[in-house]
Amino acid sequence: MECKLCGEEADELITVKVEGRKKKACEECAERLAEEGTIAEEALGAMRDMMGYKGRF
Ligand SMILES: [Zn+2]
Repeated sequence: MECKLCGEEADELITVKVEGRKKKACEECAERLAEEGTIAEEALGAMRDMMGYKGRF
């Protein structure tokens, strides 16, 4: 699968909302978007679950 944001191949893609539009992104891009505050909070929660990440970004 190919990340729609950076074009890199990724094992797992996460659906993120960018400016109201859903996009498939790799974990790296999703994390970057989260840091920038672009990603929707609900998507963040789903990503944390998927990654088993208990902390904060
Ligand atoms: Zn990416």
